[in-house]
Amino acid sequence: MPSYLHDGILLYLDRLADWEQYFTLAKGEDCDVESEREALRGVLETAATICEEVEADCRETWEQPAELVDGEVIVPPATQKAYDLLKEAGLVSLSVREEYGGFELPGFASNIILQMISRANAGLMTIVGLQSGAAEDIQRYASEDLRREFLPRFASGEVMGSMDLTEPQAGSDLGAIQTRAVDDGEISRITGEKIFITNGGAEVHLVLARDDDTFDDSKGTTKGLSLFICPRTKRDGSPNGVTVERLEHKMGIHCSPTAAMRFDNAEAYRIGEKGEGFKAMLDLMNNARVGVAAQGVGIAEAAMHEAIQYAKQRKQFGVPIAQQPLMKNLLSRMVRDIEGSRALLYRCVLLLDRNHAIEQHLKRHPDLSEAEKTELERIRERNAVRTRLLTPLAKYMATESADWITRSAIQVHGGLGFMAESTVGKLHNDAIITTIYEGTSEIQVSFALKEIGKGALTIVFDELHKELDSLQRESLQPLASKVRAGIARIEEASVALLHDFAYALLCSKPLSEMVISVIVGSELLLQADADPDREDLAASWVNRKMLDLETEAKRIEDSSVERLERCERIVQLFD
Ligand SMILES: Cc1cc2nc3c(=O)[nH]c(=O)nc-3n(C[C@H](O)[C@H](O)[C@H](O)COP(=O)(O)OP(=O)(O)OC[C@H]3O[C@@H](n4cnc5c(N)ncnc54)[C@H](O)[C@@H]3O)c2cc1C
Repeated sequence: MPSYLHDGILLYLDRLADWEQYFTLAKGEDCDVESEREALRGVLETAATICEEVEADCRETWEQPAELVDGEVIVPPATQKAYDLLKEAGLVSLSVREEYGGFELPGFASNIILQMISRANAGLMTIVGLQSGAAEDIQRYASEDLRREFLPRFASGEVMGSMDLTEPQAGSDLGAIQTRAVDDGEISRITGEKIFITNGGAEVHLVLARDDDTFDDSKGTTKGLSLFICPRTKRDGSPNGVTVERLEHKMGIHCSPTAAMRFDNAEAYRIGEKGEGFKAMLDLMNNARVGVAAQGVGIAEAAMHEAIQYAKQRKQFGVPIAQQPLMKNLLSRMVRDIEGSRALLYRCVLLLDRNHAIEQHLKRHPDLSEAEKTELERIRERNAVRTRLLTPLAKYMATESADWITRSAIQVHGGLGFMAESTVGKLHNDAIITTIYEGTSEIQVSFALKEIGKGALTIVFDELHKELDSLQRESLQPLASKVRAGIARIEEASVALLHDFAYALLCSKPLSEMVISVIVGSELLLQADADPDREDLAASWVNRKMLDLETEAKRIEDSSVERLERCERIVQLFD
């Protein structure tokens, strides 16, 4: 078994994920669930084998950047080779439906493949991740004709995709987008500039642009934005006014091309409703967010392996440093946070999968009774409420953890960690961007707060209570009680945030972390219930995080919006 396909993944593949429910809903009652699961295992083994094989080459050539040669983007040879291997194995457009030539893998499997790719080469992951993300949006929102035109080419890896949102004045605030789309009969024409576009050399750009006819009225808002497929080549084979102006030099993910783009009256095809592009783009971004969370987990895993190996062989004071209490503690906290990130991420993607399966089932059975339909819709809506909260939380947790875990891996290596050739140093440089793109950590916790404000916690906590009540093993009961107490503390403390939005925003990070603590606590307890070897991990998480949660709850209750003014006064000391 390749080491990239480890117990933390197999636990879900073999025991915790309900594949019976997923496959019968997604593919029909007569589907052979066992062979579907075996096929999934086969795909993951293939991905793991390829990623293990390319890891050394990709690490050795980490500094080599993507280059712009005569207007075309060229990625370094090691990255191209790794991409080609994945493409040959059909692993570059993971979620494309079978009818368009894809594997239609469950999001869980795609996410694990993205983790594996990130562990081997975080820059390559951005290219593959966008490939599936762009295809997924076309699949969901484009007309049948456009799907048939583009999706088979995505599935075969013939074309790649990019997601073009950011402009110089529109980063976190996409309401500031000024790229303009003018209707021209069946097509539209796009004019404007985009920056920081990953995979800007791709053939198929998904561009968010402001509709010309409502341009002035909608300025400064996300209304009036539409989403377009804008290829670099027109249907008649001529160039389409889509130019890569330059590639940026970066501190990490060097092989991932980050482009400044220009669109000059470029032909484009709207997908989704006119003026509703932001909603469609949010889907793509949510997809990309769980993808970037996977990237965080993969990079952190790579750093963790390096740190453990080094700590076992490096001797100081006559013993391996791994034997020092402080190092033992640090290494175990690193593992705990990777596993915590993974737990939250798997919960999120499995729920997304369940909803996808319900949608497929409803589509296949238009003749279901009203009662059956209503019940499935009710479950789907509850899951949707949960995933709208879990997605930003999963991205926040996995990427912030990757940042500190890779930094800690440098610490474990001492002075060697700071050398230019240090692998963990490179992994740290790669990890930083995960906390910035697809919405910064601050934007993720603001999104989470918005969902909490709409009442998401009621459903999320209700499900947690059911899970905690379902635990079978006696030794887990005291831990479950602590998580229940943590949930109650969040409910109490969040009352202090109800009446002042500025104060709620100020507290959105600790609040998000408190919510993460109980969700991950519950998931790790479920893991420990299935596999007693994971009980120490669950205990370590729950004992530590519930104490932190109590401290934060008290801070939220005892403080007020006046803290904002104090923040301002403190900053003025430097201003
Ligand atoms: C390597 C790389 C690849 C990228 N790839 C793509 C891509 O493929 N497609 C694409 O469209 N874009 C891409 N981006 C752009 C990326 O998504 C943006 O950089 C990111 O959304 C942040 O926007 P910004 O850089 O303008 O920062 P700003 O929005 O200016 O933010 C600066 C700081 O202010 C904080 N901030 C902003 N607003 C708030 C708020 N309301 N509350 C609290 N804090 C706030 C942010 O958290 C951040 O810390 C990429 C960027 C990089 C560096």
